[in-house]
Amino acid sequence: MSQTRHIKVLIIGSGPAGYTAGVYAARAMLNPVLVQGIEPGGQLTTTTEVENWPGDTEVQGPDLMVRMEAHAKAMGCEIVGDIITSLDLSKRPFVAKGDSGNTYITEAVILATGARAKWLGLPSEEKFKGFGVSACATCDGFFYRGQEIVVIGGGNTAVEEALFLTNFASKVTLVHRRDELRAEKILIDRLMKNPKIEPLWDHELVEVTGTDTPLGVEGIKVKHVKTGAITEIPAKGVFVAIGHAPANELVKDVLELHNGGYVTVKPGTSETSVPGVFAAGDLTDHKYRQAVTSAGMGCMAALDAERFLAEHPATVEAEAEASAPAAE
Ligand code: FAD
Ligand code: NAP
Repeated sequence: MSQTRHIKVLIIGSGPAGYTAGVYAARAMLNPVLVQGIEPGGQLTTTTEVENWPGDTEVQGPDLMVRMEAHAKAMGCEIVGDIITSLDLSKRPFVAKGDSGNTYITEAVILATGARAKWLGLPSEEKFKGFGVSACATCDGFFYRGQEIVVIGGGNTAVEEALFLTNFASKVTLVHRRDELRAEKILIDRLMKNPKIEPLWDHELVEVTGTDTPLGVEGIKVKHVKTGAITEIPAKGVFVAIGHAPANELVKDVLELHNGGYVTVKPGTSETSVPGVFAAGDLTDHKYRQAVTSAGMGCMAALDAERFLAEHPATVEAEAEASAPAAE
């Protein structure tokens, strides 16, 4: 049965930003409700070792996110397995509708919907998605034991994916459109020292080639960006790692955006262009896009929401306990 909830703070997203906001909002006695979305735990659930989360020399991404969820829950944040499909920010209280059929009427919103993998947009990429073309090495690398693989991209994700894929592949070709990587020095160093990885500079993917029955990848065609020369590379797997785009679908027509879709916040705060709506993490950040910066912004969003609610009393009475939903 669908429910209508009346709450003080709705947190949308369960990455480092969302869970940290959950910890702080719960400790501020705001009875927050956090909706996890389609990817509980967010982007870090798609990686293996995380080596730059302070306090852990090395931690597995999925483990870290399980711990963050448990932390938020232990502080009193209610975690809900739902996806927000629409969000009305035209007046307070704000109204969010979930895929579950539930409605969340809320006095403040913390947006922490993060980012999603970008694709090149080639018809052949689309054709072989899930049949040899992937954007997640940790999810799909295992299928390519002893095979040749290509990775497209030149950032931290591409380098990490290439390194990770050497656990399975006989050879990994890293195809980058320039002759310089934008990854961290330590990762570049590991990449260059790995005998299974061959970088291919100044090349762009133009086509993924393969068979129709069964549907499967056999290779790629790449173009030299300066000469236009086409080269074919045999490969059973193609991992596209060309960055991420902010998940702004719920708010892109309502909130101010910058740099191609990131939600704008007032400098030094998490305040968006609509009072009572706060944003944190990769959704707002085209520059740093790290777990620790996202977590920091989640903290700021909860503190900003607490202050906002103290200065702007509730327009409807919130549930006394977030765990006591009102049935419709
Ligand atoms: P995300 O982690 O992107 O989470 C977004 C959340 O929003 C998800 O839970 C999703 O389900 C939810 N959501 C989206 N839409 C909706 C909706 N409509 N309704 C409800 N929920 C919704 N950073 C590091 O610091 N160190 C690393 O080693 C590192 N490794 C990485 C490896 C990979 C492969 C990738 C892709 C990223 C890596 N990053 C790393 C970057 C880091 O993962 C991100 O900066 C961080 O996860 C961003 O956190 P976030 O909370 O903003 O959003
Ligand atoms: P990114 O830093 O934006 O890098 C994207 C890469 O893909 C760039 O090299 C870019 O080329 C290339 N690219 C983009 N569009 C392309 C296209 N159409 N065709 C061919 N190549 C294209 O993205 P990311 O590597 O996913 O990283 C995202 C964020 O997460 C970053 O802030 C990163 O630091 C963070 N992250 C951190 C870690 C870590 O700390 N260990 C790990 C993973 C990710 P150009 O270089 O030419 O622009």
